[in-house]
Amino acid sequence: MDTASARVVVLAGGVGGSKFTLGVREALRRAGAPAATVVVNTGDDLWLSGVRLQPDIDSVLYALSGVNDSVRGWGRTGDTERVNAELQAWGAGWPWFTLGDLDLGTHLARTGWLRDGLTVTQVVERLSQRWNLGVRMLPMTDTEVDTHVLLQDGRRMHFQEWWTRHRATLAPAEFENPGMAEALPAPGVVEAIADADVVLIAPSNPVVSIGPILAVPGIRAALRATAAPVGGVSPIIGGKVVRGMADVCLTAIGVETSAAAVAAHYGARSGGGVLDAWLMAEEDADAAAAVDGLGIRAVVAPLWMRDLEHSAALADAALRA
Ligand code: GDP
Ligand code: CA
Repeated sequence: MDTASARVVVLAGGVGGSKFTLGVREALRRAGAPAATVVVNTGDDLWLSGVRLQPDIDSVLYALSGVNDSVRGWGRTGDTERVNAELQAWGAGWPWFTLGDLDLGTHLARTGWLRDGLTVTQVVERLSQRWNLGVRMLPMTDTEVDTHVLLQDGRRMHFQEWWTRHRATLAPAEFENPGMAEALPAPGVVEAIADADVVLIAPSNPVVSIGPILAVPGIRAALRATAAPVGGVSPIIGGKVVRGMADVCLTAIGVETSAAAVAAHYGARSGGGVLDAWLMAEEDADAAAAVDGLGIRAVVAPLWMRDLEHSAALADAALRA
């Protein structure tokens, strides 16, 4: 593949997804290639205090525009929490879920546009116009398909409550996306995958970030049908998640926390899955033969996205793989 003219599509969640997308943008810029299309998970979305939150969309939006709080890992840099304190005083919202003032500006703008009748795709397009993102960002679907967790004790809750309030400590039995069966891919998603020269699955949470994207009816089929090679990057390094609690999600769906097991979970395109190639870390090189045995080409590469240079090098390796 000629990187200089490659049309690249990335499937991404929040933090891991945006770090990787920054790398892809940089690698493509250096090669003089067109901007990538990034299809972002909307399973994390929620309604809170009357406004619509899209945590993964906003992570990508803020990271690509450079206004993200990279120390804290979410929200806007230099944000304040005055409105949040008022909401708490009213007993509104969730006491364990902080909304920054600048962040609330985004949520209010988004909610207003949704109330005006814009689709999620149109809202994301508007949000993308303020800063020069250097990518085309698409939500996976326009339909509300918020992820819920069915717990082993039979209770159900929104994914954000389980993740943020309970820090994923309540034993999950299943992840569900009510409404998914009737959802459609957002306009442009299937077309972008069909017309791509390469599709990359970011090192995002395989269960609650990439899982919902692949569950939108039509997206998995588009990945299976495209002439473009599909490569994935392991979010697991040396048998551990790099950060976060993705291992709890993997365990819940019966997948071991290892680079090879996640590759097997995605599966080889030749065997009904979605992957042609899988980038795994040097720490996991022992398992490369097992991944090759699945019909997925294992590529050993440095997977730590410490800074932009490392992210760009990883993106470049993924594009070449
Ligand atoms: P979230 O939506 O904010 O949870 O973020 P994502 O789903 O996009 O990504 C979470 C995953 O990113 C975690 O499972 C981490 O293991 C993975 N991750 C974070 N940083 C790195 C990194 O530097 N390299 C790799 N390979 N994976 C990473
Ligand atoms: Ca997320």
